Amino acid sequence: MLELVYTCRKCGKTNSLFSFKEDRYKLSQKVGSEFDVECRYCRKSDKIKLNKVYARIKPVYSFIVFSLLFLLACLTCYFLLKGYWRDNILIQSKSIQVAFIGFCIPISVLAVLSISLKEKIRTFNNYRL
Ligand SMILES: [Zn+2]
Repeated sequence: MLELVYTCRKCGKTNSLFSFKEDRYKLSQKVGSEFDVECRYCRKSDKIKLNKVYARIKPVYSFIVFSLLFLLACLTCYFLLKGYWRDNILIQSKSIQVAFIGFCIPISVLAVLSISLKEKIRTFNNYRL
């Protein structure tokens, strides 16, 4: 879900480099503190320092996760509604509760997930060689 990216010095576009590693130090042991890259956009080769590399959440993943959680929220609402909704207990506040629970579960999942991802990103980005 995380990727390591750098910004091309020639065209300013963001290129993805590696899949996420726990920290910069481990990565430096693998690739060294400076290495050659070729920009995906302008095809120019460049030498970049590992300190210029930073971690971020893959944009496509955040979109997928968001869509999935939204779908999950809708499904949860639907099943809660089907399971707990009776004609004789049709109270106005019930629908609000059902919708609230249905959306609360995925949102808390998203919150926990994003906190743990942000923590990993912060750890990687703050640590310089
Ligand atoms: Zn470029």
